[in-house]
Amino acid sequence: MSIFQDNLERLQALKELDGISQADLDSLSSPHKLSYVELEVNNKTYPAWRVLYSSDLGPGKGGIRFHQDVSEDEVQSLAFWMTLKNSLADIPYGGAKGGVKFNPKEADKKELEAVSRAYAKAFHQVLGQDIDVPAPDVYTNSQTMAWILDEYEKIVGHHEPGMITGKPLELGGIKLRSDATAQGGYFVAQEMVKEFLSDHKPEEIKVAVQGFGNAGLFMTEKMAADNFKIVAVSDSQGGVYNETGLDIAALSAHKASGKNVSNYSGGQPMTNAELLEADVDILVLAALENQITSANADKIKAKYIVELANGPIDLAADKYLDAKGTVIVPDILANSGGVIVSYFEWAQNRTGQILDEEYLKNLLEKKMRNNWQRMFNLYQEKGDISLRQAAYILAVRRILTAKRWRGHA
Ligand code: NAD
Repeated sequence: MSIFQDNLERLQALKELDGISQADLDSLSSPHKLSYVELEVNNKTYPAWRVLYSSDLGPGKGGIRFHQDVSEDEVQSLAFWMTLKNSLADIPYGGAKGGVKFNPKEADKKELEAVSRAYAKAFHQVLGQDIDVPAPDVYTNSQTMAWILDEYEKIVGHHEPGMITGKPLELGGIKLRSDATAQGGYFVAQEMVKEFLSDHKPEEIKVAVQGFGNAGLFMTEKMAADNFKIVAVSDSQGGVYNETGLDIAALSAHKASGKNVSNYSGGQPMTNAELLEADVDILVLAALENQITSANADKIKAKYIVELANGPIDLAADKYLDAKGTVIVPDILANSGGVIVSYFEWAQNRTGQILDEEYLKNLLEKKMRNNWQRMFNLYQEKGDISLRQAAYILAVRRILTAKRWRGHA
């Protein structure tokens, strides 16, 4: 099953939905540049990619993923979504993504550092603050970014903190970045609740969260702090369920001590499949792509889904859920808080100016709520499209307008 083919089909639908020409759609149907290298680290070979999908709106921007299932199809799809996300977010970036096919859980710190440095060595020519700017993604973090920055700066011979975001504070990072994806996602979840569930108190709204890493953990904590009833949470090893609501502070402490959520004693263990099918109002997807497919779409009970992960619902499931009336807040809006704060970090690195944290926090909130509103207005105006289709239309329109100004369309 190709995720990228799904994406092209979603893109093609815009011809009918918004009268976008075939030539314009074709111009967005393949990446600008795809780089592939086999990294040689300690006598092992790891396939690695960097895909610059588009640079119409600015330099490429998108994270680097370390995972045993990374493939060209996946990296290309993630780069495509970054292109749309950055456009919808109204920030001056094209879209890109990178990945290394290996299991970081089986590697020690030395090997993680060696793989990170090998990545910088392999791709330094296609990276740079004005070319393509990576960030963390699944199983990469600020330490990974620090190693890549250090190796890159060694090669180019000058400091260039703006070549990567999600860095440690001491290397030019920004405090707001750590929970930015969840914070942004929570702002739009609040907008969704205001629009569709305003007659319910948060404590009456049951929530399940798949994925308890950077995106899922902070999102769960924010929702719990506002009294939403979090009844189920999972990580890659399985989930935990408590119908009266989980104690999220205790569960976070349990996870922080290096344990899996499924053996937390404050609830009953459940499988990931069961979590997705749980009887909840809101399902937050914060793990990986293709979690809801034609194999389980008809078992999903949640009426509202927030996609913090990229591409967690495949095309067939998306069509099924849309027809059923499920409200899905699409990934390219819901998880854009991370890249918006990455943009703040990059802008600070470029100018050398340090901006006030409160100001940036407010700016993130304003942008997220405003972008929700633009998407929601179009969704209402068109009448027969999904929130995702509204988001795609806005994103594609902005890229095509930039292309026209450049004389490329
Ligand atoms: P992470 O590595 O911090 O966490 C991933 C979490 O998912 C872990 O808890 C892991 O155990 C869990 N997981 C993995 N496979 C699972 C499975 N099959 N079922 C249930 N849980 C599973 O990664 P993250 O940064 O939180 O990213 C999660 C998703 O959010 C990805 O799709 C990523 O692309 C997207 N995203 C993250 C950011 C960010 O700033 N971190 C920004 C935008 C999008």
